Amino acid sequence: MKNLSILGATGSIGDSTLKVIDNLKDHFNILYLSANNNYKKLADLAKKYNPEYVIIDKEFYSDLKELLSSTKVKVLTNEDGLIQATSDSRVHVVVNAIVGSFGLRPTITAAENGKIIALANKESLVMAGENVNALMKKTGAKILPIDSEHSAILQSLNGEDYSTINKIILTASGGPFRDRKDSLENVSITDALAHPNWSMGNKISIDSATMMNKGFELIEAVHLFDLKPDRIEIIIHPESIIHSMVEFIDGSVIAQLGLPDMMLPIQYSLTYPNRVELNLPRLNLHKLGTMNFSDPDRKLFPAIDVAIAAINEGGTVPVVLNTVNEIMVYKFLKGKIKFTDIVKNVEEEIAKHKKIDKPSIDQIFEVNDEIWKRLH
Ligand code: NAD
Ligand code: MG
Repeated sequence: MKNLSILGATGSIGDSTLKVIDNLKDHFNILYLSANNNYKKLADLAKKYNPEYVIIDKEFYSDLKELLSSTKVKVLTNEDGLIQATSDSRVHVVVNAIVGSFGLRPTITAAENGKIIALANKESLVMAGENVNALMKKTGAKILPIDSEHSAILQSLNGEDYSTINKIILTASGGPFRDRKDSLENVSITDALAHPNWSMGNKISIDSATMMNKGFELIEAVHLFDLKPDRIEIIIHPESIIHSMVEFIDGSVIAQLGLPDMMLPIQYSLTYPNRVELNLPRLNLHKLGTMNFSDPDRKLFPAIDVAIAAINEGGTVPVVLNTVNEIMVYKFLKGKIKFTDIVKNVEEEIAKHKKIDKPSIDQIFEVNDEIWKRLH
């Protein structure tokens, strides 16, 4: 029995994680469930899964407490709760499925406390990959990626020596605008949210539409697999069947394939290095017939090169990349800016930023907080 904290339990990854747990009831015991504002859903989940604690934004603390008054579940606020859920000595695995920069603090605390971190929150690695890696080296904490591409890479590297990697081929669905040739300036919110292959939270859906998501994933791979950015190639694969590949020094390429469903990488992160049964529809190559590959249009999707430049510059530049992007995505979702302004603003803010080399964790939070205050 492993004890779990599931952070961001009410979101898309949270839903899939709980479905995975439904099948693995004898393996996992949930101690903490967290959400930001959906207290009604969190109360329902608490009644179903009976955790010791639930965690919610302080604004909804009393509402949640009232809904759970007939139960033994204790209610905490985000401020103390997320620290407790990632440092409680009984917790074996922290699932971090919080979206955006608010996921960084829990990743840091979990790393400080030597936890296994099943990580969906790629933003933490974009912002502070080097700091998180340094902490994990000290404490023995370990990240097991939930992101499907990185799970595919981990699975392709099973039993391999990482020094024999020649390159990683990161596959991308290309998002809803992959077949567009003309400007994306006037695309609508609805069109941008309509991802062809995956159903996900709004923020990552927009990141997929701008392809900033793939830029983030390149940075995530740099930190997870200790590679230089130029060792990672991005290729459009619209079917999302090959979830990524590793090319080794002898020219051999190993890939992981499967129908797109996040339950698979989530389960692998929870049962790693073991595999257990998962009853999902199976890949049928006869039915699939063909798979396609092409290069991303880097003019239509400037986010890819902006992200690569940011990781090459390093220091606090990826923090600016992450946080300006996050704020601009929410502005786009509120109809306040155009789709193409998201990445344009990111570029402008990076150009203005005075980079700090080898930032401390505190300095990373200072840069992040300053951007939120100024641009939000
Ligand atoms: P979502 O919007 O569906 O869910 C986000 C969760 O985070 C919710 O439970 C919400 O309550 C919580 N949350 C939001 N703001 C918070 C805050 N300030 N403090 C505490 N909790 C907060 O998002 P999602 O699609 O589930 O994505 C979650 C993370 O997983 C993101 O980092 C995303 O990039 C990553 N990811 C998602 C998918 C996917 O298929 N959805 C795939 C790969 C990676
Ligand atoms: Mg992904």
